[in-house]
Amino acid sequence: MPRIKRVWADPNREGKSRGRQGLRYCSRCGNTVQQSRIMKNLNLCEFCVKEFERKRDGIHSCRGCGKVIPGEDLRERKGYCSQCVCAACGTPDPIQVKKTGLCYKCSQVIGDFCRACGKEAAAQVRKNKGLCDSCLKTRKAPGRHG
Ligand SMILES: [Zn+2]
Ligand SMILES: [Zn+2]
Ligand SMILES: [Zn+2]
Ligand SMILES: [Zn+2]
Repeated sequence: MPRIKRVWADPNREGKSRGRQGLRYCSRCGNTVQQSRIMKNLNLCEFCVKEFERKRDGIHSCRGCGKVIPGEDLRERKGYCSQCVCAACGTPDPIQVKKTGLCYKCSQVIGDFCRACGKEAAAQVRKNKGLCDSCLKTRKAPGRHG
């Protein structure tokens, strides 16, 4: 499972920059990079990140797994991160999706069959979230926006 790599601001570099502009601080509580690590893409300090992870509010953190990712991504999926929604229909189902990549309903319907070509290939389909290896390859090109 791909992990979201956390990029923390470096206090030694960010904290020393000239003037106010370069100073990183938490957009929520105001902690500066010298008081706490600041996650770069979120502008949140690590305390706020941890709090969001606990809360799972669906705005700042995934309601399923608690992962903190930029808000817009979560809103698109009703408060869940991409790893917690069904790859086929988009329904949030963190527990089942973690196992099969599909929600309960879809894993019942699709089962061991590729959702693109219908070939039976249980291991591949499970690994590729509903696609067999050859269909995955043809769909490799990313960029379905909206
Ligand atoms: Zn904070
Ligand atoms: Zn999640
Ligand atoms: Zn589904
Ligand atoms: Zn296929």
